[in-house]
Formats: sequence, C-alpha cells, structure tokens
Amino acid sequence: MNEIAHNLAQVHHKISAAALRCGRACEEVTLLAVSKTKPASAIEEAVAAGQRAFGENYVQEGVDKIRYFAEKGAQPLEWHFIGPLQSNKSRLVAENFDWCHTVDRLRIATRLSEQRPAGLSPLNVLIQINISDEHSKSGIALSELDQLASEVAALPGLVLRGLMAIPAPEPDYERQFAVCSQMAAAFEALKNRYSTVDTLSLGMTDDMDAAIAAGSTMVRIGTAIFGARDYSAR
Ligand SMILES: *Cc1c(COP(=O)(O)O)cnc(C)c1O
Repeated sequence: MNEIAHNLAQVHHKISAAALRCGRACEEVTLLAVSKTKPASAIEEAVAAGQRAFGENYVQEGVDKIRYFAEKGAQPLEWHFIGPLQSNKSRLVAENFDWCHTVDRLRIATRLSEQRPAGLSPLNVLIQINISDEHSKSGIALSELDQLASEVAALPGLVLRGLMAIPAPEPDYERQFAVCSQMAAAFEALKNRYSTVDTLSLGMTDDMDAAIAAGSTMVRIGTAIFGARDYSAR
C-alpha cells in the first residue's frame, strides 16, 4: 500500500471510530480530500485507493486539475471549491466545480447562479458561517443566515445544501466541540426549513473528532491524507 492509500485508510478508521463513539453511522460522514497545493499524481493515488471527492482552494489550480482528470476520462470525480471566492473568479467555479462551500454574500451567489451552464445540474452550495474567528473576513454571522439562505434558495442555478465553517484553531477538545455544536444547531434549524439541506461541512485534520461528535456530515481533510503542505512554490 502506498502512503496516501495508507493515510486514507487511517482517516476512514478515525471517522468510523468518532461516529461510533457518538452513536452515528459512519456513512453519515463524507470524506472530502483536500488536495490544494498537491500534484495530480497525489490525487491519482487517492483515486486508486477509492477516493472520489476532492476539495481545492485556489480557482485556477483546481480548474487545471479538473481538466486534467476530465481528459484522462477515468472514473467521474466530484470537485468542491472550498477557498475564498472573488467575484472575478466566480465563472470558473460555476463552470467547472460541482460544489462551492464558501458562499457568503448574495452578489457572489447571484453570479454563480447566472454563470452556471444550463447543461449542468445546479451548483451545490454551502453558506459559510464565521463561527469563531474574528480575524477572518470570510463567512457571515449566524444572525445573517436566515436572510441569505432564503435569497440563495431562490436562485435557479444553485441548490442550497447546507453550511460550512472553519473554526479558529483551538487545541482543546471541549472548546472545539462547543463551537461545532453551535454550527450543528444552526444546521438542524436550516434543515427543517429547506428540504434540499443535508450537508454540514465541518472538521479538518485537527478537529474532526469534535466536528463528527457535534454532527458534521462532511469533513475536509488535507494534511492527514496528503501530508504537510509546502507553500514555498506559490
Ligand atoms: C486546507 C483546508 C482544509 C484541510 O486542512 P487540514 O488541516 O490540512 O486537514 C480544510 N478546509 C479548508 C477550507 C481548507 O482551506
């Protein structure tokens, strides 16, 4: 087994164990492999090990990989845009990705909807919540969610699937769990109002156990699968 296949198996094991501990089925938690900064060859190893859903943070890097794998024409993969999105890059996301996790204003949502090609199914979107990181400019406050959700849900090129958050780094499990639980409560309330809502994108390498215990349905894992990232070439 190569290293990435081995890491993937370990992450699946961690997800199962975390789900089991809180009485959830491991099928309730989807693993999104975050491949930003990693070469296509690393993604190929993950695909060979059965991984199908990948997350990318940088629009052009993600589009290059999507095109590479589309041309290879192997098994269909699912591509999630999880980075901050600027208006001038929205068309590339609308035309190439299957999901966008970082919708945090109506202007971006409207552009994504208008730019989604008619031949594709609507773009799956998550509204990003700024749950604990006052230094981050990404994401809306929970108090703004009702308004933005009703606007996003009305856009024909999008389907509102749920919520996403990147909690501020926090080593203490109990405090991770408290923040994740706030997200889970907002997610449950949204799910009761919109039949399309089924996804809470929450949990990274260092807080996935707390996120799963709180109710995450999608963990975004990079480091534990692909190893530490090297940004020096960027
Ligand atoms: C990089 C990144 C991840 C993966 O983080 P790891 O700690 O490497 O697992 C998850 N979500 C987002 C939004 C990211 O930018």
